[in-house]
Amino acid sequence: MAKQLFAIFGNPVVHSKSPLMHNLTFQKLGIDACYGRYKLEEGAALKAAFFALGLKGVNVTVPHKEHAYHACDHLDSFAQKVGAVNTIVEREGRLYGYNTDAPGFLKAISEFDGRKVLFLGAGGTAQSTSVILRDEGYDVTLLNRSAGRLKRYAQEGFKTFTFDDFVPEQYDLVINMTSAGLEDDALPAPQAILGAVIPSAKACVDVIYGKETPFLKLAKSYDKSTKDGSDMLLYQGVIAFEHFTAYRYSFEEILPYMKHAFDFN
Ligand code: NDP
Repeated sequence: MAKQLFAIFGNPVVHSKSPLMHNLTFQKLGIDACYGRYKLEEGAALKAAFFALGLKGVNVTVPHKEHAYHACDHLDSFAQKVGAVNTIVEREGRLYGYNTDAPGFLKAISEFDGRKVLFLGAGGTAQSTSVILRDEGYDVTLLNRSAGRLKRYAQEGFKTFTFDDFVPEQYDLVINMTSAGLEDDALPAPQAILGAVIPSAKACVDVIYGKETPFLKLAKSYDKSTKDGSDMLLYQGVIAFEHFTAYRYSFEEILPYMKHAFDFN
């Protein structure tokens, strides 16, 4: 069989850890496959690029997860429900789409007790993760800087607030789903709001990885358990790898190999 080719599609992709995660795992498991990165400018060109490059599978990152959803011939039920695809596998000329971000996130937070969750942010990442959490019995409230992105969540029955109308309650988990702190020193919400929800939380989680964000620093100052987005990234990759290799390897077999990618900076 010819070497199987995989890639990450996104814009930008230069900093993506996915090639390292998947290549290390292919190598360790003795699979004749290679995973590259492809800067895709036009989301509408995703399907054409996939076939022109002769790929077997891709991961899709910002800003093309919705285009990926539209490019697929088949969608699994969860990807269908949330309208966002981050993993595509080709089988007999047809594209099969999955969302592994949300189950990866669910697994990453499963170590924490409690079902009442406050999401800070309401962007693309919050979209699939809020749905899987609700499906799993979590009670999710969304707090966002501006009202625009909250509309669809409110329509779907989530409790939503902006900073102006927020009425704090006790939340088990407070989770930064924003990009605040990614390339700046911003907190995801005003300090007064964070000071009203962090002290009574059991833990604080950030989806940003590779750095300690101001949000996690603040949570630590309240002696809270914290977790960054590394496990979410790792677990979505393991689940994508399961799809790429048609479930020939278990999650537990893949995990230690893929984890090695986090030993590199
Ligand atoms: P989006 O662009 O879709 O949404 C951004 C969200 O952040 C919006 O709710 C926006 O609010 C809010 N926001 C941005 N800046 C600020 C700020 N300074 N203060 C308060 N709110 C702010 O982003 P994504 O959902 O795609 O990504 C969010 C984060 O998730 C990123 O940091 C990304 O790196 C991370 N991520 C991590 C993954 C992992 O595997 N660990 C996987 C995917 C994403 P508004 O609506 O008001 O603009």
